[in-house]
Amino acid sequence: MPDSSFTVRPDFLADLNIKHTADAPLGALTWYRTGGHAAILASPSNVAQLSTLVSRCHEEHVPITVLGAGANLLVRDEGVDAVVVRLDDPNFKNITIDEKQGSIVAGAGVDLFKLVPASARAGLDGLVHIAGIPATVGGAVRMNAGGAFGDIGESVKRVQVMSDAGQVYYRDRDDLEFNYRSTNITAPFILEVEFELTPADSDELMKRYKEIYFYKKNSQPMGDKSAGCCFKNPPAEVGATAGQLIDRAGLKGYTVGGASVSELHANFVVAEPGKTTSSDLLAVIDHVQQTIAQRHGIDLEREVVVW
Ligand SMILES: Cc1cc2nc3c(=O)[nH]c(=O)nc-3n(C[C@H](O)[C@H](O)[C@H](O)COP(=O)(O)OP(=O)(O)OC[C@H]3O[C@@H](n4cnc5c(N)ncnc54)[C@H](O)[C@@H]3O)c2cc1C
Repeated sequence: MPDSSFTVRPDFLADLNIKHTADAPLGALTWYRTGGHAAILASPSNVAQLSTLVSRCHEEHVPITVLGAGANLLVRDEGVDAVVVRLDDPNFKNITIDEKQGSIVAGAGVDLFKLVPASARAGLDGLVHIAGIPATVGGAVRMNAGGAFGDIGESVKRVQVMSDAGQVYYRDRDDLEFNYRSTNITAPFILEVEFELTPADSDELMKRYKEIYFYKKNSQPMGDKSAGCCFKNPPAEVGATAGQLIDRAGLKGYTVGGASVSELHANFVVAEPGKTTSSDLLAVIDHVQQTIAQRHGIDLEREVVVW
């Protein structure tokens, strides 16, 4: 039964030949495995279909948003009163490698777990530093995903995007900015990304890829249901990371329902499978923010995106 609280009608896209489902559960499409439904979940087959869909939403003032690998996403239990798009068609998952030019062009739907080792095997340096980060190319560029070894933005040369009216255009490196978990790409859809990479020995790159991958696996609760680091680190002058502040406040293990602050890494809020609601996760997040604000006067900014 469609959720009657949604204002987006279940038949909103009925006259368009675009694959979609009304009142579609989103939880299974996120790493947290929690949360409600999307009013409509659509999987366009190509850029032309996406453009038609985006224009329709624009004309009818219906909100539209895009889901990547769901690795940085917390969907509220109430769900999302919008058209949610997945770029999961093979047309959004192409990878073109040019070893001579040192470039890789990847569709927004490409999984980083596939792209990063492929770049190492091709002997192209510039992506192995983001080994082990779960994401699609679109989600990783939107968030400027990265960590101790660098961010994805460092290697981005050009990005193909779509406006909220469905127009496709490019943004080039000289007008792109990549900051801590953010970019100045304001277009709602990233479609394709060109990376500029440096030729290097593929065996050496594979070795580094594995080292970084296992470093991450051993220092973070990769096996637990999470969205990675929950909060952004505060400015350097604070002198502590978000994880250190949360740990020192004695919040490791703080639990609401099935949600808790990870014992392994205090900046991860993890969910016990099958026993956690998004409301539990949000309650833990709120408590952490309030505790750190009271103790240190610091407002921890959420890194995880809440829908
Ligand atoms: C175990 C674990 C470890 C993690 N470790 C790290 C880490 O080390 N470093 C790090 O930076 N992050 C880390 N993360 C968080 C996550 O991997 C990144 O934020 C990643 O960039 C999310 O990509 P995604 O495709 O899953 O995007 P989603 O979570 O699906 O979406 C995130 C945001 O990106 C937008 N988006 C998605 N696709 C597109 C697109 N094509 N065009 C425009 N916008 C888009 C969404 O609308 C949303 O606002 C981790 C997460 C987990 C679960």
